[in-house]
Amino acid sequence: MTTQKIAHIALGSNKGDRYKNLQDAINAIFQSIGSIKQIAKVYETKALDFDGHNFYNTCISVTTTLSALELLEQLQRIEQKLGRKKTLKDTYENREIDLDIIFFEDEIIETSRLTIPHLEAHNRKFVLKPLQDIAKKVIHPKLNKSSEELLEICKDESILEPQNIWLKNPKKTYNLKTHNYIAIEGNIGAGKTSLTHLIAEDFNAKPILERFADNPFLPKFYEDASRYAFTLEMSFLADRYQQITDDLQQLDLFKDFMVSDYDIYKSLIFSKITLPEDEFNLYRKLFHLMYKDIPKPDLYIYLYQNTERLQQNIKKRGRDYEQNIEDSYLDKINTGYLDFLKTQTEINFKLIDISNRDFVCNREDYIWLLSKIFEVN
Ligand code: ATP
Ligand code: CA
Ligand code: CA
Repeated sequence: MTTQKIAHIALGSNKGDRYKNLQDAINAIFQSIGSIKQIAKVYETKALDFDGHNFYNTCISVTTTLSALELLEQLQRIEQKLGRKKTLKDTYENREIDLDIIFFEDEIIETSRLTIPHLEAHNRKFVLKPLQDIAKKVIHPKLNKSSEELLEICKDESILEPQNIWLKNPKKTYNLKTHNYIAIEGNIGAGKTSLTHLIAEDFNAKPILERFADNPFLPKFYEDASRYAFTLEMSFLADRYQQITDDLQQLDLFKDFMVSDYDIYKSLIFSKITLPEDEFNLYRKLFHLMYKDIPKPDLYIYLYQNTERLQQNIKKRGRDYEQNIEDSYLDKINTGYLDFLKTQTEINFKLIDISNRDFVCNREDYIWLLSKIFEVN
């Protein structure tokens, strides 16, 4: 998993449609930087330090896999896209949008291009007030004070007028209300677990992750498939059954829905490939006995990835026992899934071709994938 960091960004606009500029900036940040965790109130303030129009100011927190410098570059791109012109003047000017990084986790950065925490943040009420709305307890890593404390001792006496306008979190455009349980499926190395983590994190869902790491038969199976296939498939089935019945019955009041990185039908799809026919027939009987009792996902996503890319992903994650998987095995699994999906009438499934996409490293691909999953245009 690529690690996500939390950045606090101050937004200001005092030119053009100020509200729209803030909203457009937030939308653009969501598209190219990361998910917006929180949005503070909007405050109107007089231009400090120069004779300009009144500002609308606010603050947001964002999770991102970018580095601080990449984040600055993306923010500057957005500033330009929203019409901000860089002038050579060495004074403050009216601007459509100004995006400053206040905090980047607890990092301290002091270079010619970037100072974090922002050099002036603690002297500015128009930064501290909205920051305090969303990040009271977050500590300024240089001054060792929370934003709440900094606001209390701040000498800036300017007046902030809270506005009755609300900026919208772009993720709300995704229609999640209709789902209680989403299963993410795909071949080995398709990115099921990564996507499950991302969705769980971004949309407040409870992740249900396959516990393959604990399965002692998996490495053995890759060594000697014919000997360990039945044992492996049985242990997977038992484990999946137990996990799904346990997890789905524990209603988590603080989560909006559940997302799993597998669907139990996978047991049947794999065993059809790995087991000889007589063993498979026995296995299938057991499977159906268990299957009828367990909750089914109301949305089933199959991530289709081509074999070459699957192999690259498998190499990248570097689990020893997976390194000699043959293309033909991956092809068989894919065919197994497709044959299964073809015969399904009960399952609400979507097959999404991600073969030219990289939703882990490329934010735009992730946004594209979300729109496919949740059907927004
Ligand atoms: P101020 O920094 O006083 O708020 P400003 O926002 O008007 O002034 P800009 O012209 O937007 O200043 O930016 C000047 C430079 O500040 C940018 O080119 C950028 O490299 C640098 N900079 C340094 N630290 C930061 C930071 N934490 N966030 C944004 N820009 C920063
Ligand atoms: Ca600024
Ligand atoms: Ca700036």
